[in-house]
Amino acid sequence: MSLQETMALLASIRSLGIEIRADDAREHILWRPRQMLPQELYRKLAGHRAEALALLCAHDPEVVWRVHALRMQIPPKGSIPPLQARPYLFQGARYKRCGSCGDPLTTVQQYVCLPCQHALWLALEGAGDLGGGKAATND
Ligand SMILES: [Zn+2]
Repeated sequence: MSLQETMALLASIRSLGIEIRADDAREHILWRPRQMLPQELYRKLAGHRAEALALLCAHDPEVVWRVHALRMQIPPKGSIPPLQARPYLFQGARYKRCGSCGDPLTTVQQYVCLPCQHALWLALEGAGDLGGGKAATND
């Protein structure tokens, strides 16, 4: 699901008067009132959980700085190199550390931390300016 489609999904959920956000760990999607989410939207949300979660974290300061750091490494043309939130600090894989920013990993994360995971999707989808409060446009 693209950035625009994911934004549209969240917008249609919010238009029903449902409040939707990520939990503090950036790991789960929370919404209320729980029972108001129609089955069809619930299925869409469940099917695109990672993208929706990334978007719900787009204004999170821990995600915002990572999106900016990653975006700076994406060339205007050609193939995208491996992106790291803190490339200057990083010297190869370290035990129980994020492979992108070097922060400690929690038990649910294997290679990159959740802020890096969300930031990577946002950066690659062109959502680099979402932290400023407006959606990015590529033109
Ligand atoms: Zn990280």
